[in-house]
Amino acid sequence: MSPPASTPVRDRLRIAIQKSGRLAEPARALLASCGLSWRESRDRLFCYGESLPVDLLLVRDDDIPGLIADGVCDLGVVGRNVLLEQGGGRVGNGAAPAFREWRALGFGGCRLALAVPDAWDWQGPEQLTGKRIATSYPALLSQWLAGQGIAAEVVLLSGSVEIAPRLGQAEAICDLVSSGATLTANQLKPVMTLLESEAVLAGPVETLDAARGELAELLLRRLDGALRIRHSKLLLFQASRRVLPDLLPLLPDAEAPTVMQLDGADDLALQALCHGAVTWQRLEDLKRAGARGLMVLPVEGMLA
Ligand code: ATP
Ligand code: ZN
Repeated sequence: MSPPASTPVRDRLRIAIQKSGRLAEPARALLASCGLSWRESRDRLFCYGESLPVDLLLVRDDDIPGLIADGVCDLGVVGRNVLLEQGGGRVGNGAAPAFREWRALGFGGCRLALAVPDAWDWQGPEQLTGKRIATSYPALLSQWLAGQGIAAEVVLLSGSVEIAPRLGQAEAICDLVSSGATLTANQLKPVMTLLESEAVLAGPVETLDAARGELAELLLRRLDGALRIRHSKLLLFQASRRVLPDLLPLLPDAEAPTVMQLDGADDLALQALCHGAVTWQRLEDLKRAGARGLMVLPVEGMLA
């Protein structure tokens, strides 16, 4: 008997990102900040990794969880809303969870909210009993309704959910909201948040094996460094030793500052990596407390 044909081993890592849309550019920029570069194919669906064997597949965001589940891609950048909706849908259909959130990426922030017409006097979720709620997120909405013990009808719409109440298709909606301007324009008001979402790096539930596993580890290390320094600044200044107790409380978000003694005097040079915003106000407060020669420098890279 001949041995079973084995699938060819893929040793390049493949990451799915959105082809166009809100997450497309920030996803590419974040991966590029991890030292990845690509050669684009003519059809602009596949980017061949040049600096590392890490390729990109450019797809619709809704396809990303399925591509990971099927093993076509190893990782993907997708909204938590899409990942959890499709995960919930799979589990609802009796399938095993095949993907999970590996890292939150800090962009594409929005929330999945329940909104009702402005005219409603909102008292609480029980008001939804017997009502129709339009959404593109049936699994997440159904889970939430079940958790609240509310029997309402979920009306599945693939787009333009916010006009459903005006069209008489539903009494309330459950949709993604960032500024809330779309809701206001449609005489709706958000009343509950079902999920806080942002772009995430999604990957399989199981760890990847061999070469692709090592590449994923390398990428995660770089990604963690890139995410850590995203809003970080290096602050340099001088001060005399006696004002140090006044200065340190002004740097609560800084890692333990490096303190260097300047030649033969009471003077110190300090270097602090701040993870929060270094605003003008903060610099002025530091100066008032005795810091001199304040300098703020961008941080290009960090490997812990
Ligand atoms: P595709 O053509 O890839 O299917 P799409 O129209 O489904 O694109 P986008 O509108 O680009 O997707 O949104 C992608 C993701 O951006 C959303 O799933 C969500 O995670 C995030 N997002 C951030 N803010 C908003 C918002 N105000 N409305 C919708 N999505 C938002
Ligand atoms: Zn989509």
